[in-house]
Amino acid sequence: MSVWDDVVGQPDAVATLLRAATDPAAMTHAWLLTGPPGSGRSVAARAFAAALQCTGTDGETGGCGRCHACTTTLAGTHPDLTVVATDKVVITIDEVRDLIMTAARTPSSGRYRVIVVEDADRMAERTTNVLLKAIEEPPPHTVWVLCAPSAQDVLPTIRSRCRGVVLRVPPARDVADLLVRRDGVDPAVALTAARAAQSHVGLARRLARDADARERRDAVLQIARRIRGVGDAVLAAGELVDVAKAEAVAATAERDAVEKAELMRALGVQDGDTLPPRLRSQLKQLEDDQKRRATRRQRDVLDRSMVDLLSLYRDVLVVQLGATVELVNAEHDGAVRALAADSTPEQTIRRMDAIGVARERLEGNVAPLLALEAMAVALRPQG
Ligand SMILES: [Zn+2]
Repeated sequence: MSVWDDVVGQPDAVATLLRAATDPAAMTHAWLLTGPPGSGRSVAARAFAAALQCTGTDGETGGCGRCHACTTTLAGTHPDLTVVATDKVVITIDEVRDLIMTAARTPSSGRYRVIVVEDADRMAERTTNVLLKAIEEPPPHTVWVLCAPSAQDVLPTIRSRCRGVVLRVPPARDVADLLVRRDGVDPAVALTAARAAQSHVGLARRLARDADARERRDAVLQIARRIRGVGDAVLAAGELVDVAKAEAVAATAERDAVEKAELMRALGVQDGDTLPPRLRSQLKQLEDDQKRRATRRQRDVLDRSMVDLLSLYRDVLVVQLGATVELVNAEHDGAVRALAADSTPEQTIRRMDAIGVARERLEGNVAPLLALEAMAVALRPQG
């Protein structure tokens, strides 16, 4: 095994990164890994970091996967690795300043000091400019690995100073193989999940292993069939938002409580004591951060639901046009065919456009319910 095993379906990217990690002449100190959600940007970034630190086992270097440097890097505990994985809406300028301080230090035990920024696109322009200076003249042992959905998502100034590596959407079969090999998932379930998740590795894994997640996805797809009039549309939109909210709360509640307990302890406040007024701003700041994180999560879940809906109408269009490609939602074949019989390809395309518009509006911070109501109304049968 090696650290590259989990970088699914990316032979070109792996070759480039591996060469850089093993040949000093091929090394660059600032990288930009781009690829659509689920292409495995953060997995590739971590594998690269491990390969850079790898001290080798039995003469095998470049990410052997077995040495202490490899295992600690993959686990995120290597002292010379910093990973910024934000689940907030933006990376703040203070966070970037901290990173730059870290980047300036020489590695304590590893070959490099590696800084991975998973969502380099979630940065305001002013923050990016602060980062730019650090990337331009990095200390010789520092490597920056920035990740973003596409090169266009970061400022041209950043792009031009980084070496780009493009990840593609891995084939569903490769993703299914990984689920079978790594997670012991049944091959048939793995393939259905990989297709339904449109090769998004993390989602495919969740769908394959979590029956609730499969049910939630099915419920989203069924909404398309249930919308008959404006009233149903408004109800359906409300339902989608509620499901997303519940999932966001479930995913963040435990972590929020732990963070709050840690902060209280750090401030020297005993359990059950009231917080002295002069410390309240500290708690307020944490709560604001947590609220932002929940918002981000809710938007991510909603966006996922819309991608699921989009995949359903994509299948409808495939049937309407008589194309001979596999359906993403083969297990919803009946619903797909019924929708296809009920409408024209033009209507299907208009519905897909309405979903696209809703996604854009959500990204642009329109209130979720408003964006989804407009979308759901556009999905209803057109006479
Ligand atoms: Zn190793």
